[in-house]
Amino acid sequence: MVTISKICFFDTKPYDKTYFDQYKEQFGFEIDYFEPKLNAHTAIMARGYEIVVAFVNDTIDAKTIDILYNEGVRLIAMRCAGYNNIDFKTAFNKIHVVRVPAYSPYAVAEHAMALLLTLNRKIHRAYNRTKEHNFSLNGLTGFDLHGKTMGVIGTGKIGRIFIDICKGFGMEILAYDPYPMEGLGLHYVSVEELCKNSDIISLHCPLTKDTMHMINKDTLNLMKKGTYIINTSRGALINSEDLLHAIKEEQLGGAVLDVYEEETEFFYEDLSGEIIKDDILSGLISMPNVIVTSHQAFLTKEALSNIAEVTLQNIKAFVSGEGLPNEICYRCTKIDHCDKNEKNRC
Ligand code: NAD
Repeated sequence: MVTISKICFFDTKPYDKTYFDQYKEQFGFEIDYFEPKLNAHTAIMARGYEIVVAFVNDTIDAKTIDILYNEGVRLIAMRCAGYNNIDFKTAFNKIHVVRVPAYSPYAVAEHAMALLLTLNRKIHRAYNRTKEHNFSLNGLTGFDLHGKTMGVIGTGKIGRIFIDICKGFGMEILAYDPYPMEGLGLHYVSVEELCKNSDIISLHCPLTKDTMHMINKDTLNLMKKGTYIINTSRGALINSEDLLHAIKEEQLGGAVLDVYEEETEFFYEDLSGEIIKDDILSGLISMPNVIVTSHQAFLTKEALSNIAEVTLQNIKAFVSGEGLPNEICYRCTKIDHCDKNEKNRC
């Protein structure tokens, strides 16, 4: 049995501390909160800890894992669902990796719809206008969502809730998922058909080798002129350069992005007044029909509370030598040494 009392927590924000502090005594853990992100330069800060808590924009590559392992770390507890930032091949047989598979799919699905409504009904522009006592409606025309077709890529937990929300608006749904959900009456089509026939496309699949840049110049060119894209999943699902081009060429009607493929350097930080040295991100932000939020779709009280509780439960299971139900299955990461049931799809 492993005995530990202290947890090393990277990339701490005030809201993380608020919610983890609420639960830590109940679990009997001490947490040392560090502001830096976890990467090969900061991994040394984990010296003397067996357990590290990390997040979506930490760089948990081979070098970072080797340093953590040599410093005695045996568990990385991700306080998120996604795990595309981890080198599992290096971690295998050295460090266990657990995650919070679902903390509030409602939070993310609701944020996706909030972004869509903002873009379509130009709420961001109307808000700024009325603050300046400009009560003109010119340029604020949207369209009814009722009767339009929503293409949903990935019909897992978040995708299915998003579909229910869209159905509440009277929308038609087209879906794509390599593992279709039986019994939901969903109309599954190929990615190509979905691109051709949707008015709006929302991405709810994980970032893998198969999904990297699945939205690119070829798929963008299949879409109807004026299609909207919603991405609350992972930035690299979209080739951002191709996206910016399609927006400039008015092939796309607009995009709402909670994630960006090079977000690590920018998102979650207050860079007010600084120059953003990423021409694609700057270009996207400058477009009137692009709205960017900085990976905040998860940010509800319910989600933060669930994240803290489940992360500490995962750590407790490790400390007490119980099984790790939320360990990330290596099969799902397409690495060969899976010792788990193949059906245990993460
Ligand atoms: P989930 O595992 O329940 O669902 C993912 C679905 O994607 C599954 O049905 C799976 O079969 C499908 N899928 C796998 N490969 C695919 C492919 N090649 N093409 C299309 N679909 C594919 O996950 P979830 O909880 O619904 O989360 C979805 C994604 O949302 C996560 O992977 C994560 O990247 C993202 N997310 C973002 C935030 C945020 O704050 N923005 C928060 C949580 C999760």
